[in-house]
Amino acid sequence: MSKATYLSKKHGVNPSITQCWYCGKDDALVLFGRVGGQRAADMGWGNNPTEYDVEAPRKICCGPEYPCPDCVALMEKGIIFISVRDGEEKPEKGVIPNPYRTGGWSVLSEEYVIRTFTPDIVEEMLTSRLAFVEDKVWDELGLPRGKVHGVPGSMEEYVEIHKNDEAEAIA
Ligand SMILES: [Zn+2]
Repeated sequence: MSKATYLSKKHGVNPSITQCWYCGKDDALVLFGRVGGQRAADMGWGNNPTEYDVEAPRKICCGPEYPCPDCVALMEKGIIFISVRDGEEKPEKGVIPNPYRTGGWSVLSEEYVIRTFTPDIVEEMLTSRLAFVEDKVWDELGLPRGKVHGVPGSMEEYVEIHKNDEAEAIA
Protein backbone atom coordinates (compact mmCIF):
# COMPACT_ATOMS: atom_id res chain seq x y z
CA MET A 1 0.00 0.00 0.00
CA SER A 2 1.25 3.41 -0.93
CA LYS A 3 2.06 5.94 1.76
CA ALA A 4 -0.42 8.32 0.16
CA THR A 5 -3.34 6.19 1.32
CA TYR A 6 -2.82 6.64 5.08
CA LEU A 7 -6.15 7.22 6.75
CA SER A 8 -6.72 10.39 8.65
CA LYS A 9 -7.32 9.81 12.38
CA LYS A 10 -9.75 12.72 12.46
CA HIS A 11 -11.30 12.59 8.98
CA GLY A 12 -11.07 8.93 7.92
CA VAL A 13 -10.81 8.56 4.16
CA ASN A 14 -11.26 12.37 4.00
CA PRO A 15 -13.37 12.47 0.83
CA SER A 16 -13.93 15.24 -1.69
CA ILE A 17 -16.05 15.37 -4.81
CA THR A 18 -14.34 16.88 -7.81
CA GLN A 19 -16.33 19.32 -9.91
CA CYS A 20 -15.71 19.77 -13.58
CA TRP A 21 -14.21 23.19 -14.32
CA TYR A 22 -16.12 23.38 -17.60
CA CYS A 23 -19.66 22.34 -16.66
CA GLY A 24 -19.64 22.40 -12.85
CA LYS A 25 -21.03 18.90 -12.52
CA ASP A 26 -19.84 16.50 -9.86
CA ASP A 27 -17.31 14.21 -11.45
CA ALA A 28 -15.26 11.92 -9.24
CA LEU A 29 -14.78 10.96 -5.63
CA VAL A 30 -11.29 11.55 -4.25
CA LEU A 31 -10.16 10.00 -0.98
CA PHE A 32 -7.36 12.09 0.42
CA GLY A 33 -6.75 10.33 3.72
CA ARG A 34 -4.46 12.34 6.00
CA VAL A 35 -3.32 15.59 4.45
CA GLY A 36 -0.68 17.70 6.16
CA GLY A 37 -1.08 21.46 6.40
CA GLN A 38 1.64 22.26 3.89
CA ARG A 39 0.15 20.01 1.24
CA ALA A 40 -3.32 21.38 1.98
CA ALA A 41 -2.01 24.94 1.60
CA ASP A 42 -0.36 23.97 -1.70
CA MET A 43 -3.78 22.79 -2.89
CA GLY A 44 -5.38 26.04 -1.78
CA TRP A 45 -7.28 24.68 1.22
CA GLY A 46 -6.08 26.76 4.04
CA ASN A 47 -3.24 28.64 5.52
CA ASN A 48 -1.87 26.65 8.42
CA PRO A 49 1.17 24.71 7.13
CA THR A 50 1.89 23.29 10.59
CA GLU A 51 -1.48 21.56 10.94
CA TYR A 52 -1.08 17.77 10.99
CA ASP A 53 -4.43 16.57 9.76
CA VAL A 54 -6.54 18.84 7.55
CA GLU A 55 -10.14 18.14 6.55
CA ALA A 56 -10.57 18.11 2.77
CA PRO A 57 -13.19 20.45 1.29
CA ARG A 58 -16.43 18.68 0.30
CA LYS A 59 -16.04 19.92 -3.27
CA ILE A 60 -12.90 20.67 -5.19
CA CYS A 61 -12.26 21.79 -8.72
CA CYS A 62 -9.17 20.45 -10.42
CA GLY A 63 -9.10 23.12 -13.12
CA PRO A 64 -9.23 23.09 -16.92
CA GLU A 65 -6.78 20.23 -17.29
CA TYR A 66 -9.33 17.76 -15.94
CA PRO A 67 -12.60 18.00 -17.85
CA CYS A 68 -15.25 15.43 -16.90
CA PRO A 69 -15.88 12.60 -19.42
CA ASP A 70 -19.02 14.37 -20.73
CA CYS A 71 -17.08 17.53 -21.48
CA VAL A 72 -14.27 15.54 -23.11
CA ALA A 73 -16.85 13.99 -25.45
CA LEU A 74 -18.49 17.36 -26.13
CA MET A 75 -15.16 19.04 -26.87
CA GLU A 76 -14.40 16.37 -29.45
CA LYS A 77 -17.56 17.41 -31.27
CA GLY A 78 -17.59 21.13 -30.74
CA ILE A 79 -16.53 24.15 -28.73
CA ILE A 80 -17.90 24.84 -25.25
CA PHE A 81 -19.32 28.36 -24.96
CA ILE A 82 -19.73 29.82 -21.47
CA SER A 83 -21.38 33.20 -20.93
CA VAL A 84 -19.56 35.70 -18.71
CA ARG A 85 -20.33 39.15 -17.36
CA ASP A 86 -19.67 42.05 -19.72
CA GLY A 87 -16.26 43.62 -19.27
CA GLU A 88 -14.47 40.56 -17.90
CA GLU A 89 -10.84 40.91 -18.84
CA LYS A 90 -8.86 38.35 -20.72
CA PRO A 91 -6.29 36.80 -18.36
CA GLU A 92 -2.58 36.91 -19.10
CA LYS A 93 -1.01 33.98 -20.85
CA GLY A 94 -0.43 31.04 -18.54
CA VAL A 95 -3.02 32.18 -16.01
CA ILE A 96 -6.15 30.04 -15.63
CA PRO A 97 -9.07 32.27 -16.59
CA ASN A 98 -11.76 32.68 -13.98
CA PRO A 99 -14.28 35.18 -15.30
CA TYR A 100 -17.64 35.65 -13.59
CA ARG A 101 -19.94 33.14 -15.25
CA THR A 102 -23.56 34.09 -15.88
CA GLY A 103 -25.14 30.71 -16.58
CA GLY A 104 -25.20 30.37 -20.35
CA TRP A 105 -23.61 27.13 -21.51
CA SER A 106 -23.67 25.73 -25.03
CA VAL A 107 -21.62 23.56 -27.29
CA LEU A 108 -21.35 24.81 -30.85
CA SER A 109 -19.98 23.15 -33.94
CA GLU A 110 -16.65 24.02 -35.54
CA GLU A 111 -18.57 25.09 -38.65
CA TYR A 112 -20.55 27.62 -36.63
CA VAL A 113 -17.40 29.00 -35.02
CA ILE A 114 -15.59 29.30 -38.36
CA ARG A 115 -18.59 31.04 -39.91
CA THR A 116 -19.17 33.43 -37.03
CA PHE A 117 -15.82 34.69 -35.76
CA THR A 118 -12.67 36.25 -37.18
CA PRO A 119 -9.80 33.87 -38.04
CA ASP A 120 -7.56 34.76 -35.09
CA ILE A 121 -10.37 34.07 -32.60
CA VAL A 122 -11.42 30.94 -34.49
CA GLU A 123 -7.94 29.50 -34.24
CA GLU A 124 -7.87 30.05 -30.49
CA MET A 125 -11.32 28.50 -30.03
CA LEU A 126 -10.54 25.46 -32.14
CA THR A 127 -7.38 24.84 -30.12
CA SER A 128 -8.76 25.43 -26.61
CA ARG A 129 -12.25 23.98 -27.40
CA LEU A 130 -13.57 26.70 -25.10
CA ALA A 131 -14.86 30.23 -25.43
CA PHE A 132 -15.84 32.63 -22.67
CA VAL A 133 -18.37 34.94 -24.28
CA GLU A 134 -19.52 38.25 -22.79
CA ASP A 135 -23.25 38.51 -22.16
CA LYS A 136 -23.86 41.17 -24.78
CA VAL A 137 -22.17 39.05 -27.47
CA TRP A 138 -23.97 35.96 -26.18
CA ASP A 139 -27.33 37.65 -26.67
CA GLU A 140 -26.34 39.11 -30.06
CA LEU A 141 -25.53 35.59 -31.20
CA GLY A 142 -28.90 34.43 -29.90
CA LEU A 143 -27.39 31.67 -27.79
CA PRO A 144 -29.71 29.93 -25.31
CA ARG A 145 -29.84 30.75 -21.63
CA GLY A 146 -31.03 29.04 -18.51
CA LYS A 147 -30.76 25.63 -17.04
CA VAL A 148 -32.86 23.69 -19.50
CA HIS A 149 -30.80 24.59 -22.50
CA GLY A 150 -27.77 25.71 -20.63
CA VAL A 151 -26.21 22.69 -19.01
CA PRO A 152 -26.10 19.61 -21.18
CA GLY A 153 -26.47 16.59 -18.97
CA SER A 154 -26.49 14.16 -21.85
CA MET A 155 -25.65 13.83 -25.50
CA GLU A 156 -29.35 14.30 -26.39
CA GLU A 157 -29.20 17.82 -25.05
CA TYR A 158 -26.09 18.39 -27.07
CA VAL A 159 -28.02 17.45 -30.18
CA GLU A 160 -30.70 19.94 -29.15
CA ILE A 161 -28.13 22.68 -28.89
CA HIS A 162 -26.65 21.58 -32.18
CA LYS A 163 -30.08 21.95 -33.80
CA ASN A 164 -30.26 25.42 -32.37
CA ASP A 165 -26.96 26.09 -34.10
CA GLU A 166 -28.36 24.78 -37.39
CA ALA A 167 -31.40 27.03 -37.04
CA GLU A 168 -28.98 29.91 -36.66
CA ALA A 169 -27.29 28.83 -39.88
CA ILE A 170 -30.55 28.86 -41.81
CA ALA A 171 -31.62 32.27 -40.48
ZN1 LIG B 1 -17.83 18.74 -17.46
